[in-house]
Amino acid sequence: MRLDSVPQDLPAQPLTAVVSAGLLPYPLTLHPHPSPAMRIIFIGPPGAGKGTQAERLLEYLKVPHLSTGDMLREAVARKTPEGLSAQEYMNRGDLVPDSVILSLVGRRLSEPDCAAGCLLDGFPRTVAQAESLGELLAASNQPLDGVMELRVDEEDLIQRLAQRGRADDQPDVIRQRLVAYHKQTEPLLSFYRHLGLLHSIDGAGSPDQVFARIQAVLDHLRPE
Ligand code: ADP
Repeated sequence: MRLDSVPQDLPAQPLTAVVSAGLLPYPLTLHPHPSPAMRIIFIGPPGAGKGTQAERLLEYLKVPHLSTGDMLREAVARKTPEGLSAQEYMNRGDLVPDSVILSLVGRRLSEPDCAAGCLLDGFPRTVAQAESLGELLAASNQPLDGVMELRVDEEDLIQRLAQRGRADDQPDVIRQRLVAYHKQTEPLLSFYRHLGLLHSIDGAGSPDQVFARIQAVLDHLRPE
């Protein structure tokens, strides 16, 4: 049967329902995963515009968002044991101990929605965390597709952060978060560069310009 002889008055309902009800007169192959599972790490210093880009990335990849910053802020607000032990580190702009982070992330990664990929945002932040993540992913047979690093000049970072109003956006806390980034997170970049997974993205320009660069990298990584 030719395509142009398909009845035009098919009821408006999802294509899957139409197919399973036998309403389509010709066989049709449906791709159950229009966007293949992707596991991406998103790294960037505070103030680089990572939050804005993460939102767009999530929309584009259609994967769950695994943000350790958000998870920690939620744990702090709910006063869970993990939140209570994280709070003092966060208030100072220091990294929260790995044991706390790994228990949060390990639990989240084992939830069923993460089988379809995820965007890791704010984790890993140290080489030790990256090694633990490697073990977690290997144990559950979840490959890592790539690491995106958002790069922005230090001057611009401080300016952007000063305009935000989060509790840890006070000047001395900002400075400490940047110190932590340079000291603990930058070695992570070499770690992933050596694994051939690192993609550095210029974070200067409008959100649209930056996202276009991210999208170009993703489209290159996406399995066919
Ligand atoms: P930013 O990138 O602006 O620093 P985040 O929301 O990612 O913001 O993190 C806020 C704070 O939460 C950090 O300063 C740190 O104290 C804590 N934190 C978040 N993720 C991690 C992590 N992977 N390891 C250790 N501490 C973390």
